[in-house]
Amino acid sequence: MDPTVLFSPDEVARASAYHRPLYFALAADIAVSTGVTAVLAFSRLGDRLFAATGGPWWARTFLFTVLVLAVVDVARLPLAFWRGFVREHRWGFSTQRIGGWILDQVKGLVIGGVLTGAAMVALLGSIRLFPSWWPLVAVLGACVLVLLLVFVAPLLLEPIFNQFRPLDDPDLADRLRALARRAGVPIRDVLVADASRRTRKHNAYVSGIGRTRRVVLFDTLLGEAARPELDIVVAHELGHRRHGDVLKGTLLAMLSAAGAVLVAWPLDPTPRRIPLLLLVWGLLELASLPFTAAFSRRLERGADRFALELTRDPDAFEAAFRRMARANLADLDPPRLVYTFMFTHPTPVERIAAATP
Ligand SMILES: [Zn+2]
Repeated sequence: MDPTVLFSPDEVARASAYHRPLYFALAADIAVSTGVTAVLAFSRLGDRLFAATGGPWWARTFLFTVLVLAVVDVARLPLAFWRGFVREHRWGFSTQRIGGWILDQVKGLVIGGVLTGAAMVALLGSIRLFPSWWPLVAVLGACVLVLLLVFVAPLLLEPIFNQFRPLDDPDLADRLRALARRAGVPIRDVLVADASRRTRKHNAYVSGIGRTRRVVLFDTLLGEAARPELDIVVAHELGHRRHGDVLKGTLLAMLSAAGAVLVAWPLDPTPRRIPLLLLVWGLLELASLPFTAAFSRRLERGADRFALELTRDPDAFEAAFRRMARANLADLDPPRLVYTFMFTHPTPVERIAAATP
């Protein structure tokens, strides 16, 4: 679809200039993490790193997992720094200082290390406890873990990176609550995240399940978008809630977790084989990206349709997605391969075109 029907050739070119190097960086990032993980799985270097760990099997498992992830992350650091800090500053998006960026990386590494380490201990523990039917135990355990993570993420994980407050504009809060009632998914509060501590980009999302469900707006978006556009953004998020999309995503994640256990089965997991497990899981994830991205785009199109039906305001829909595309410099004309693997959302061009026949 020709993006210049809706955006100027300059806008299309500028968005491309921002994104193309990032795609190459992403490919390099995948190559680095796969390569380093493979080295730790098959080489003497991995043996030596494993020999540096000690103690009972569970301590060794946890420690080795954290060490492997730390080595991979350190190898990825230069690219991550260029991509997430240098370039974001050069293009005027980042509002972060170097200290804040480093703190984010450390938090990410600690959370990733603790969660992955705990999952590995659980996996290897189930093999020790139930030598013949551990895959069944591990699949069930993985599904429970995914469900638990989605449930507690808004309460325990998201606040590690952002602070959340209820909307302080009572008129707007009433307006959005009324919208939610009309959508058939009443909400107590729309929360505002202090995204501006990192970026000038705009966004909104839904997270949590059951009692932890919430709609979150970036404060960056709130400061700039007109009310009818905010209605569109919130209506889209309400569409996700109405359609149970977080739950659908959770079920997909459970299916992936079950798949991860099944591919681990023939590998006969031991603590030394942790890098091998991570390598195989990484490749599996890569291979499944076209399916998960297509699944996600489908849910996004559904939420867009819902927003249009709820607001009956195609003009505001177009304005909202134009503003978001400009604010985030969204790629209006991505390469086919990138679109297939990475695009969890349709392009702004596709979204506006679908809304305005
Ligand atoms: Zn969405």
